Amino acid sequence: AFNDVIARMRVLDESRQEFVSNVSHELKTPMTSMKVLADSLLQMGEDVPPEMYREFLQDIDGELDRENQMIEELLSLARTDRKQVSMNISQLDINALAESVLKRVRPLAQKKDVELILVSEREIRAEADEVKMVMILTNLVENAVKYNREHGKVTVTLDSDGKSFTIAVTDTGIGIPKEAQAKIFDRFFRVDPSRSREIGGTGLGMAITKNIVDMMGGTIQVESETGKGTEFTIMLECETSGEIVKREPVPELKGARALVVDDDAQTCMSVSRMLREIEMTADWTTSGKEAVLRAKEAYEQNQEFKVYIIDWLMPDMNGIETVRRIRMVVGSEYPIIILTAYDWSDIEVEARAAGVTAFCAKPMFMSDIRDTLMTAIGQSQ
Ligand code: ADP
Repeated sequence: AFNDVIARMRVLDESRQEFVSNVSHELKTPMTSMKVLADSLLQMGEDVPPEMYREFLQDIDGELDRENQMIEELLSLARTDRKQVSMNISQLDINALAESVLKRVRPLAQKKDVELILVSEREIRAEADEVKMVMILTNLVENAVKYNREHGKVTVTLDSDGKSFTIAVTDTGIGIPKEAQAKIFDRFFRVDPSRSREIGGTGLGMAITKNIVDMMGGTIQVESETGKGTEFTIMLECETSGEIVKREPVPELKGARALVVDDDAQTCMSVSRMLREIEMTADWTTSGKEAVLRAKEAYEQNQEFKVYIIDWLMPDMNGIETVRRIRMVVGSEYPIIILTAYDWSDIEVEARAAGVTAFCAKPMFMSDIRDTLMTAIGQSQ
């Protein structure tokens, strides 16, 4: 038994040494870059051209941010390692929490044109620690965006069965090779260190996430296929209530028809589901051209759509052109809302001229939909 203890201590000691050497290396890398940059500026003295001066300072600033993030994450890791974190349990609205995380990650996703989708059949309430839930979910969603391809997708799916709830984060990214999946929660592990560094990764996020999930008594699993994408699923056992929440309809639009147009069928379905929740009748199509035909048909049958929700960027016919043509058919009466993941100030004049009534940031969430519709109705009146 004594030998066993010694052997175990040796293993512990080795892993501690490895950890310390990793930390030193990780902290030294940005330091070295900063030193080189600062030294070159000093050497050139008065002769540094102003643009170069600025550029070098910006690089130093970037390295400082990296260093800072690394230290923050190391502290976080140390705290969660020692289980020194107290749990602050309260009743959480998991849907609202997931929405807030997706909204926060939205700018990062927009840079790569990655679509964020939230799928949830019901409103889940659970007893958990809010700050920690936000931390783990943010980490998973950020990774799903960072390791995604351009124009990819990230779907967060919530579910509960009364005794536990699951959060699955699925992406259409580069995937994680089989042999790496076992190491994914190890500190400083990255599948491709140079890529991670380029996109600003510390290799600690997953280790911290695993620590927190363990502390909460939950599980985290990964499934992935190289080149196809990855799914992380967190399962937490705790008292949950999963009610199908009744949402109030917008009185003027109760029972009215709406047409959703987006080249991504999943977005169409998710927006349609939200519209149905507020008692509208939703139809959808993935093509701008088809949308114009359907608008025309509905108009001629006296069953016109009372609201249109149209994606701005679509391959066959873009949103603005689609609006222009729909307006030619249906006139100016009904509101048309443009969905866009981008800043719309540049297109606003053109869009309004084409007949757009209002804009809504993409992805659209349940909490946005009523406000957007009310604004649109208000404006079209
Ligand atoms: P990093 O800060 O480098 O992103 P993490 O600990 O969050 O570190 O993740 C560790 C490694 O796991 C990443 O460097 C990346 O190689 C891999 N990884 C994490 N999430 C994903 C994902 N959704 N798709 C592909 N690879 C991922």
